Amino acid sequence: MTKKTTPTGRRVETYDLIVVGAGPAGLSFVRALEGCGLSIAIVERQSRSMLADPPIDGRDIALTQRSEGILRDLGIWPHIPVEDTSFIRHAKVINGGSSYALHFDHRETGKDYLGTLVANNLIRRAAFTALQEVDGVELIDGRSVVASSGNEEAVQATLDNGRSLQAPLLVAADSRFSETRRRFGIAAQMRDFGRSCIVCRMDHDEGHGDTAFECFHYGRTLAILPLAGRQSSVVITLPTSDAAEVMAMDEQTFNQDITVRFARQLGRMRLVGERHIYPLVAVYADRFYARRFALIGDAAVGMHPVTAHGFNLGLRGAARLAVEIRAAHAEGADIGAVHGLRRYHLAHDRVARPIYLGTNMLVGLYTDERLPARVARDALLRLGNLLHPARHAIMRQLTDSAA
Ligand SMILES: Cc1cc2nc3c(=O)[nH]c(=O)nc-3n(C[C@H](O)[C@H](O)[C@H](O)COP(=O)(O)OP(=O)(O)OC[C@H]3O[C@@H](n4cnc5c(N)ncnc54)[C@H](O)[C@@H]3O)c2cc1C
Repeated sequence: MTKKTTPTGRRVETYDLIVVGAGPAGLSFVRALEGCGLSIAIVERQSRSMLADPPIDGRDIALTQRSEGILRDLGIWPHIPVEDTSFIRHAKVINGGSSYALHFDHRETGKDYLGTLVANNLIRRAAFTALQEVDGVELIDGRSVVASSGNEEAVQATLDNGRSLQAPLLVAADSRFSETRRRFGIAAQMRDFGRSCIVCRMDHDEGHGDTAFECFHYGRTLAILPLAGRQSSVVITLPTSDAAEVMAMDEQTFNQDITVRFARQLGRMRLVGERHIYPLVAVYADRFYARRFALIGDAAVGMHPVTAHGFNLGLRGAARLAVEIRAAHAEGADIGAVHGLRRYHLAHDRVARPIYLGTNMLVGLYTDERLPARVARDALLRLGNLLHPARHAIMRQLTDSAA
């Protein structure tokens, strides 16, 4: 970093790269640039102590084998305690009140499991720990970027304490509601589902057999994801107008409600810890780059969690952009040049768009309770079991580790 004073008397600190947001995507991205000699400022509104030990936020993240591989390559995975990870070996999708299930079985893939589950706060903690191993990074914590702009030569970011940063490239990883995206004039498609997601952990009497259940009940969706031992991560998706009532339920009523909704398949279920609630808004940026600017993570693509792709996509995009930046820097070229950013955009869009559209279509169908949709929902599951290529394509997406 170098410090300069502009002709107007303003002090500007110059870096090679500014990253806004030290969430899991921003941290993984910076970690992916380890060893390339760039001076990087990463600005985060949360405090360093919060990043070092993030509180439980109720999210258990289902990771594909590709994501697990990327996290290993980035040196993040070793910082996640083995005993806090669990395997998904089977996945069952159930429609309405039917007991018929579309079944995904790891044995058909030749792999030992379909995916892994790790708590979001542990991923964030591990990514932050791994960041300490990267030279040339300055974490500016407890600060927000309140203004940013760019020209042919550089981008500037102003922090809420008036500090001024400059670099040839700024990367925004500042969530699906990214203010930086808006400042750089990138529009985004937003879809507010009018629904919310309540997440929590529950103990239960019976074993889950490493099976993830996605139950598209009428009115609400219930996902049960297998954690270590006799514990599961429970995700309830419901109209936002009903969410306050479920959040306010006393523990005993809540336990009984989930036990019954899950047809006692895991015996009696008991809440562990707090319930957390998230609004369901999906976001897809029109472009993932502008002049000297790129978007990663949820700031580029914010997914509905039903297909568990958000961070998986974010991680893949972050790794892809890092490849472009490394290559440009190694050649002594401009890391903010538009052709490298466009290549990242095209590659990430090709992967993310079908998943985003497919997920939204699935959500549309499985929240439509009119009779034709109910019939289509059921038919789709039965067809899914019969159509081996479709089922295998989905399982390949989970278990493929190729980059
Ligand atoms: C209930 C739920 C379940 C999910 N399950 C899965 C799953 O199973 N699998 C999966 O892959 N994904 C899942 N996801 C998605 C996953 O959690 C997100 O994709 C991921 O957390 C996004 O990371 P991010 O770093 O892009 O953004 P965030 O985690 O939103 O981080 C953004 C960071 O930017 C900071 N920031 C924002 N604005 C500024 C500013 N102006 N200045 C400085 N800092 C700023 C914020 O403080 C924050 O730390 C789930 C999401 C939810 C809600």
